Amino acid sequence: MSAKEDCLFCKIVAGDIPSTKVYEDDRVLAFRDVAPMMPVHVLVIPKAHYENIADGVADEDLVACMRAVDEVAQAEGVKGSGFRVLTNTGDDACQSVHHLHFHVLGGAQMNDGDPSVR
Ligand code: AMP
Repeated sequence: MSAKEDCLFCKIVAGDIPSTKVYEDDRVLAFRDVAPMMPVHVLVIPKAHYENIADGVADEDLVACMRAVDEVAQAEGVKGSGFRVLTNTGDDACQSVHHLHFHVLGGAQMNDGDPSVR
């Protein structure tokens, strides 16, 4: 499993930095965002290090992340009410942690057509 030194989320995967785990399997970890923007705000990450979605992500990791999104939505009780999945990629999108992650957001009404969260 590839990990990158000085990557915050690789350290969370390794257990060197604590997180509030919501879901885990052999390829994926999901944990609560430390600064939630919505009542439900969970980050789904591959355990392998990728900078972002444009970093040649292996199909197996992509599928595992999307399956985990579904598991998280179920576990967090937003599968029926609806939720949003987004992944910030690069500078224009203000990506701040350079380890691929999918924000799973829900638990309240969001705007329609606005690329920001609310
Ligand atoms: P982005 O701006 O898309 O790169 O999102 C990075 C997210 O990581 C932000 O929503 C942060 O609140 C979140 N974050 C940063 N550090 C931690 C941490 N130690 N545990 C959980 N979430 C974090």
